[in-house]
Amino acid sequence: MRGSFRSSNIFRLGVLCTFLLIGHLKIQAQNKVLIIGIDGTRPDALLTADTPNLDGLWQNGAYSFRAKTDPLSWSGVCWTSMLTGVWKEKHKVYSNSYENPNVKEYPHFFRRAREQKPNLKTYSIANWKPVHNILQENDAVEAVHRKTDAAVTKQVVRTLKNTDVDVLFLHLDNVDHAGHKYGYALENKKYISAIEKTDKKVGEIIKALKKRKDYEKENWLILVSTDHGGSGKGHGKDTPEHTTIFYIASGKEVTQGEILKEVNVVDVAVTALKHLEIDIKEEWKLDGKPSGLK
Ligand SMILES: [Zn+2]
Ligand SMILES: [Zn+2]
Repeated sequence: MRGSFRSSNIFRLGVLCTFLLIGHLKIQAQNKVLIIGIDGTRPDALLTADTPNLDGLWQNGAYSFRAKTDPLSWSGVCWTSMLTGVWKEKHKVYSNSYENPNVKEYPHFFRRAREQKPNLKTYSIANWKPVHNILQENDAVEAVHRKTDAAVTKQVVRTLKNTDVDVLFLHLDNVDHAGHKYGYALENKKYISAIEKTDKKVGEIIKALKKRKDYEKENWLILVSTDHGGSGKGHGKDTPEHTTIFYIASGKEVTQGEILKEVNVVDVAVTALKHLEIDIKEEWKLDGKPSGLK
C-alpha cells in the first residue's frame, strides 16, 4: 500500500513539474523584440513632423526626446553602441570603416541572447550595410541588406508575416540621406518630409506585426531610436544637435510617460535583453541599462 501511495504521489509531482516546465517555456517563448532604427533623426524634427504612427508608439509608451548617443556621432560608432550595449571605448568602432571591432569581448546583443537561448530567431534587415559588420557567424538567422527603405520595409513585413521571428532589428536610411542632401533642420521641409515618409513605413511595419497569426499570445516590445542627429549637412561632432536622440519603448511592460532618468543609446540592447529574459551578467561589462520597462 505504502509503495503505491508513494509512486502515485511521485507520478502526480511529475505531472505537475511537466506542466510548470511547459508553462514556463511557453511564457519565455512569447517575449519578442522589434527594434526600428531610423538613421539621422533629430528628436526636435520628429516632434515637428506629422508622424501619426510614431506618435501612437510614444504617446502610449515610454519615451525620451533628450536621450544621448556617442559624442563621436558617426553612424558606425553609434549603431555599434546601440547594438552591443557598450560605448566605443569598449567596442572599438571609431568610424564608419569598422577597422577592428572588439566583437569577441563585446558582441552584438543577438549573440548574448542566443548564448542563453539558442533557439531565438534573430533577424537584421538594413539599408546601411555596415551595420552588419559586427555580426559574427550564426548571430543572425538572417542579415539582409536592401538598397532602399521601401525594400527594407517590404522584407520586414514579409519576415513578420512568414517567420517565427523573436528579435528583429531594422534600419531605415532615408532621413539621414535627406539631412546630408538638404540639411538637418526643422525649417527644412525636405528633411521633415523624409521623416513623415518614414513614419508611413513604420505604420506598415506595425500593421504587419499586429496581423501576425499569434500576435495576441506574443508579448512584443517595440523600441525605436536613431543613431545621431545632425546640423548643416552633416554630423559627427559632440554638439547637442548631433548627440541628442530620441528613444521610444512601446509594449505591455513599459512604464508609460516620459523617462525622467538619463537615457543613452547603449540602453537599447540592454532593454531588449531584459525583455527577452536574458540574465544580464556583470562580467559582460555592459554600459547600458534597461530603460522604460516596469
Ligand atoms: Zn547615421
Ligand atoms: Zn549620415
